[in-house]
Amino acid sequence: MKLLIRGARILDPSQGLDREGDLLVEEGRIAALEGEIPADPQTEIIEARGKWLVPGLIDMHVHLREPGEEWKEDIESGSRAAAAGGFTAVACMPNTRPPNDSPETTRYILDRAREVDLVRVYPVACISRGQEGRELAPFGELREAGAVAVSDDGRPVADAGLMRLALEYARSFDLPVISHAEDPGLSAGGQVNEGIVSARLGLKGIPAEAEEVAVFRDIALAKLTGHPVHIAHVSTAGAVEIIRRAKEEGLPVTAETAPHYFTLTEEAVLDYDTNAKVNPPLRTERDREAVRRALAEGVIDTVATDHAPHSPLEKEVEFPAAAFGLIGLETALPLTLRLVREGLISPLRMVELLSTNPARILKVPGGTLKPGSPADLTLIDPEAVWVVTGETLYSKSKNSPFLGWEMRGRAVLTVVGGRIVWRI
Ligand SMILES: [Zn+2]
Repeated sequence: MKLLIRGARILDPSQGLDREGDLLVEEGRIAALEGEIPADPQTEIIEARGKWLVPGLIDMHVHLREPGEEWKEDIESGSRAAAAGGFTAVACMPNTRPPNDSPETTRYILDRAREVDLVRVYPVACISRGQEGRELAPFGELREAGAVAVSDDGRPVADAGLMRLALEYARSFDLPVISHAEDPGLSAGGQVNEGIVSARLGLKGIPAEAEEVAVFRDIALAKLTGHPVHIAHVSTAGAVEIIRRAKEEGLPVTAETAPHYFTLTEEAVLDYDTNAKVNPPLRTERDREAVRRALAEGVIDTVATDHAPHSPLEKEVEFPAAAFGLIGLETALPLTLRLVREGLISPLRMVELLSTNPARILKVPGGTLKPGSPADLTLIDPEAVWVVTGETLYSKSKNSPFLGWEMRGRAVLTVVGGRIVWRI
């Protein structure tokens, strides 16, 4: 089947493209990209004037909860939420039950994703067996089974010696290493950011230093081993500064942040809203500002959601008993578009953050509209206004701090390998 998307504003940082034009999809690939492309009668035409056509969005940090916690999310509901949010690919973290530390679990995830057949699902496997921080998982077998990266996300690798080994071992298999940067000794028992808000709520705080100590350590280890480290969910001004200096030195480090860190501050938990309880915690206005600047200046490379679904069972409880995490697949695009409207980043930079850079860091296909590439595309209506409610979200879980927010901008068409998986 042929698909012609006509008259869109085409945004593709991989070719430095920002201009109006047509794009033709044929046999699952981008066949042509020009000012005007004639259509034959077999071609489905999508009129896209006023819309933005971009390489399919890629979220390199989600929790799909399958296997083991399917009451929160599964590969089907998570894939549907991803497609609705404009994502054509997601990388799923290994803290499932069991954790993804074996080729069997990696293959199970890939088989389920194939059955569901919506977006591309890239499994991230564990750094350590059982995420217990004692011995390394079998990286070679995991790579062969289809894992695209390793991480103990959800937990830090507490032992610096083991993290060093992980980077050395990952190097021989060309596996990206994703660091959940947290010093467990400093964060233990913490609920929210340490500071005025933790004091006012009478909750134990997690200091910014719990993140910064670990970011510094893992960058030092990247330098020692010569293998890149990717820092997940950057939330503090100090972490931004450490990463900035490392990049200036030419060290192999990349970093992501999540929309909640550039949109909200610790004040979101002042009324004990468990949907705003997340790890790392929401920080101060100063941190938020630093993260925003880092996105604009290239210190932070990508926006990932850290989509972490939890059911009311884990969230509608006393604040200290509530699980950490919030969902983000369906709100990431409009929240990042806010940065464009504020003039902080250009539309092209937004596409870099949400597509081109995650593809490059994970070394997966996508992130480009070059003819010949797989037709993974997102068509965005930057002006569509909608309200986030439990009913509008496709995720099985509704733990979003943005419920009730009016959003501007959304994906109106998501195409994976030439196939339409989402359309409104
Ligand atoms: Zn994490």
